[in-house]
Amino acid sequence: MLSQKLHDAINAQINAELWSAYLYLSMSMDAEAKGYKGVANWFYIQFREEQDHARIFMNYLNSRDAKVELKPIEEVRSSWDSVLDMFKQTLEHEKKVTSLINNLAAIAKEDNDFASINRLVWFIDEQVEEEESAREMISALEAVECNKYGMYMLDKEMATRVYAAPSPLTTAE
Ligand code: MG
Repeated sequence: MLSQKLHDAINAQINAELWSAYLYLSMSMDAEAKGYKGVANWFYIQFREEQDHARIFMNYLNSRDAKVELKPIEEVRSSWDSVLDMFKQTLEHEKKVTSLINNLAAIAKEDNDFASINRLVWFIDEQVEEEESAREMISALEAVECNKYGMYMLDKEMATRVYAAPSPLTTAE
């Protein structure tokens, strides 16, 4: 059985993942409004991935006979000064999410809840990737700073990102 502490923390995490989805959807819409179709695509896929993260946690609570409690989703910012600014916020936000996931793992460890630790390992790996991809985009954007042609090419490259469902949602559970 899941401890009440971990149950509550995972419910809070579901809200945090949905807030992340909302944040990236807002970045996608701002990029769209500024004419960056590729950047808009990149963040729209990010929006879908965050919804997947929430879904994985919801499936997990259901599988442990623990009820999912949905809370209101806080407002998000709607405009950024530049695409670089969006990715800087993305990196800062993902660092925060990493610490939230680490906290869940610490509670599971304290509880000797090995099933939860096992589920959280996927998220721990995922956070390494999230921070890495945000850092890579920051480097790319800094490299093309003030170069309109470079930004045009980078936007084209970001348009090629495609959505792929994460493994916990593609394997039968
Ligand atoms: Mg996430």
